[in-house]
Amino acid sequence: MKRILLTFLIIMSVILFVACEGKAKGAENKYVMELEVGEDIRGKQTLVFTNGIKDGLDELKFHLYANAYREDATNKAYKNSLLKYGRIEIQSCKVGGAEAQHSISGDKNILTVKIPSMKMKKKTEVFLEYVVTVPQCNLRLGRFNDTVNMGNFYPVLAVYDNGWREDAFSLVGDPFYSEIADYEVTVKAPLTMELACGGNIVSRLIENGSRIMKISATGVRDFAMVGSAKFKLMTKSVGGTMLRYYYIKDAKASDTLNEAADAVRLFGEAFGKYPYESYSLVETAFAYGGMEYPMLSFISSSEPDKAKVAVHETAHQWWSVSVGSDSIRESFIDEGLATFCTNYYYLLKGEKQIFIDNHNKSKTDFQNFLKMKTMANASYVPRLDLSINEYTTNEYNMLCYEASGLMFKSVYDIAGQTGIEKSLQIFFEENKFKIADKEKLYSAFNKGCGRDVGRIFDSWISGATQTFYGY
Ligand SMILES: [Zn+2]
Repeated sequence: MKRILLTFLIIMSVILFVACEGKAKGAENKYVMELEVGEDIRGKQTLVFTNGIKDGLDELKFHLYANAYREDATNKAYKNSLLKYGRIEIQSCKVGGAEAQHSISGDKNILTVKIPSMKMKKKTEVFLEYVVTVPQCNLRLGRFNDTVNMGNFYPVLAVYDNGWREDAFSLVGDPFYSEIADYEVTVKAPLTMELACGGNIVSRLIENGSRIMKISATGVRDFAMVGSAKFKLMTKSVGGTMLRYYYIKDAKASDTLNEAADAVRLFGEAFGKYPYESYSLVETAFAYGGMEYPMLSFISSSEPDKAKVAVHETAHQWWSVSVGSDSIRESFIDEGLATFCTNYYYLLKGEKQIFIDNHNKSKTDFQNFLKMKTMANASYVPRLDLSINEYTTNEYNMLCYEASGLMFKSVYDIAGQTGIEKSLQIFFEENKFKIADKEKLYSAFNKGCGRDVGRIFDSWISGATQTFYGY
């Protein structure tokens, strides 16, 4: 696609965005970020924080995920040594305009900022200035070949549930857990760099030889982007949502985009309308198949079946992005639903045999895995609710993807298409922009199925499935 067409399409998307009303409701917290992308990422960030935690709150905690790319990190984000390591350095920290006491602890992964004691519902502003050294790797944060992945790079507020959650980084799974916020981001990047962002493009300017983009996102739990000088762009509008596919070498780019567009439409009809105005997919150098971020999905350039990954990551736009979950301790919810829905997509498309075949393959894989595990250890229990860092990669894949997907399939087998869709509609409606735990899942499914299906979930989650289902 020629650059002139690319520019035209981007202008059209901006106009379309300006023309539509926001669908996601605003959050209590807001990040205002000014980012400069060069060799490093330089950030100035203000978190406008409203205390929804407790009276007398006197500190805030932020995750510094970029420090998992340090050479001396204990819980590393990478498996093999890197040509260049990454890190984040905090250069300035102010609360309400005054210098604030702050410290970095744990595996240099937690930033604690002292704040004057706050009453509930009061607001304060936390300003952070930082430099992120971008590592050389094809991971969530990293420069590799033609792309720069910028996921989980900035200090993000931790979740407070019975205390601040200071979970360590984990190479297995997605070690992220966050509440929704609104984002107003200004990015300055080299003119040659195109940016795929999780948010709506508000404006694009060229200023003193740099590209300046303003991005806004309402009611999202994270912000990420990918930069490249080689991106081509295809767009498609689906039911009020503008889809963009930034790709480099994908020979079947239109198939990838069409599959994602069909998924947005079909999941929207089955579970509830996609609540954001835009959604971008980006083909990038990435060691795993894909990764979901709010309004943005990474699709690995080395993935042979990009369309399938696009469907899985798009399912996460409902389960993980809109309806949040604790993907450290309860990843069976978002990965289980994303796996189930990737197969369910074929049923929605009228290709029921693919839905059945894919589940049968999952079942065989899970049975073989269980045989192998129980041969090595007769008392092995395939629990789905361990913390992600307690699993090996293979175990995590088999339990949190395959077995968790089969768990939802076993509910489908009892409740049918009507029951499962009603349950997921209730689950989506009751929990979008919030965090849903196991109890909220049970509550939605019991209502949607019109019976107590908690026993089915419990048997899978506790690992009793072998005897319950004869696996
Ligand atoms: Zn997933």
